Amino acid sequence: MKTPFLNLQLQHHAVKAELEAAFREVLESNAFILGENVSSFEKEYATFSQTKEAIGVSSGLDALILSLKAIGIGAGDEVIVPSNTYIATALAVSHVGATPVFVEPKLDTYNLDPERISEAITTNTKAIIPVHLYGQACEMNAIIELAAKHNLLVVEDNAQAHGAAFDGKTTGSWGNVNATSFYPGKNLGALGDGGAITTDSAELADKVRTLRNYGSREKYYNETIGYNNRLDELQAAFLRIKLKKLSEWNKQRQEAAHYYVQALEGIGDLILPQTHANATHVYHLFVIRTERRNALQAYLSDKEIGTLIHYPVPPHLQEAYAHLNYEKGDLPLSETLAQTSLSLPLFPGITETQQQVVVAAIKAFFHA
Ligand SMILES: *Cc1c(COP(=O)(O)O)cnc(C)c1O
Repeated sequence: MKTPFLNLQLQHHAVKAELEAAFREVLESNAFILGENVSSFEKEYATFSQTKEAIGVSSGLDALILSLKAIGIGAGDEVIVPSNTYIATALAVSHVGATPVFVEPKLDTYNLDPERISEAITTNTKAIIPVHLYGQACEMNAIIELAAKHNLLVVEDNAQAHGAAFDGKTTGSWGNVNATSFYPGKNLGALGDGGAITTDSAELADKVRTLRNYGSREKYYNETIGYNNRLDELQAAFLRIKLKKLSEWNKQRQEAAHYYVQALEGIGDLILPQTHANATHVYHLFVIRTERRNALQAYLSDKEIGTLIHYPVPPHLQEAYAHLNYEKGDLPLSETLAQTSLSLPLFPGITETQQQVVVAAIKAFFHA
């Protein structure tokens, strides 16, 4: 019996009739760009995010780039990003001409450490991008306080944590302007690429709306040098259906994570995920750590259990960032995480039997 790392079909089969009906409606409507589905989804996603505004865009990376553009980040600016994030966070900073400054995480939550952020602030620092990694909310109260003290802007990267919260306040509602992704495998995923920006600022929302649509408010009149970064009607229609299921799906992820935590406690040198007392975790990923990571992954692969590594190479050691002249050992925590982390199968609809197979295989590996 194969145990897949991720099975999206389970989610989609649960709402298959609705997705097909939505496709037919969009097809018959003949409105494919910035129509009613996009504007309705934006309202619904803003409500879900507890923000005044949500703006649908083409991807998570584009959401980050437009967010940074809207708050005026550009050449000569430094932006603090986690050293252990998915590289898109840093790429967005580079695309607006600024420099990403990598800051090491806390080793219990894998999220940004407010103390280390403090140490990285220079006179050129303009913004911080906290990433709610693997689905756990960052310590947003401390980060917002720090930003206020140093006059910095905050852009949350909420690509992995739709529905998480810190101190009861939703991720994607803390920063000046916040970005998220609806890549199919995220907790809320489209059937293709998509993303959104959330904010309480009418002014920033207006800037982003203009930027995503060729810098145009009125067709064929362009006030800024904009982009084509729109969310399309079809994806918005699908997202509206899936958004209604998100809380239930997040709950299933949390239950599955809870099962793993109980069942894997005390095995070998395993380090299990830990959640900050004031944070919620929506388990986009269930990431364990072990010094024997590569051997464990090969062992599980032999038993047809799918796993992935998030992420094998930290951004500062990627070829894309060779020009920043980081060397191996410069950011030892993220480098250790890259060598020891392993993500186990976890998705809405995973069965206890499937999880038992994973747990039994991990036990067998460490007892052998
Ligand atoms: C997925 C992801 C992105 C990028 O989203 P895309 O929609 O794939 O462009 C950005 N940041 C983080 C943390 C992500 O996980």
